[in-house]
Amino acid sequence: MKILDNLYAFIWRNPQVNNCNTYLIKGSKNILIDPGHLHLFDHVRLGLLGLNLIPDQIDLIMITHGHPDHLEAALLFKEPTLITISRSEADFIQEWAGQYGWNSDQGFKADFFLQEGELKIGDQIFQVMEAPGHSPGSVCLYWPEEKALFAGDVIFNQGIGRTDLPGGNGTLLKESIQRLAGLDIEYVLSGHGEVIKGKKAVEDNFRMIEGYWFNYL
Ligand SMILES: [Zn+2]
Repeated sequence: MKILDNLYAFIWRNPQVNNCNTYLIKGSKNILIDPGHLHLFDHVRLGLLGLNLIPDQIDLIMITHGHPDHLEAALLFKEPTLITISRSEADFIQEWAGQYGWNSDQGFKADFFLQEGELKIGDQIFQVMEAPGHSPGSVCLYWPEEKALFAGDVIFNQGIGRTDLPGGNGTLLKESIQRLAGLDIEYVLSGHGEVIKGKKAVEDNFRMIEGYWFNYL
């Protein structure tokens, strides 16, 4: 699904199977955000093919957090594709690697770490925002030029990320969401569910989350 000339969403629509939405930023560098489950990667591969791209043409994989439904397919990518995630999330994955069914050779490796602040990739500038709560090293990526927020599993259309998984923390999630609510956003691109488009819809969604979901955090 085309969102903008340089932004595509591969929205996961099968409610029976857990996988995440994947986003492609197409430009001087092709960036894939959250490639999803390994065994469900054909969904992304076909989406790329429809844009005349193959996985080898992806320059960078950015991972919002380390849950397998977001990260796992990163294992398919090799040099020269680079992979990035926050350092604290990479450490967290290490701790839980056994649960992912990975052996030490298969382990996931980041080429560099996402850290709070500005990140320049090709001709695009992103703001990396640490956003713990759903998982300890979750990050959101804000793209000021397009006023787009890649939210991972921090917020959704009408919802918020779970806090009952290992490393989850409701107080931190609340603080993370409050920080995001201060941004100038036209598009919320979450890890699951529909894309939220338009400043008013984005503001309404934050208001709904604060009025309803914050009671549960
Ligand atoms: Zn998650």
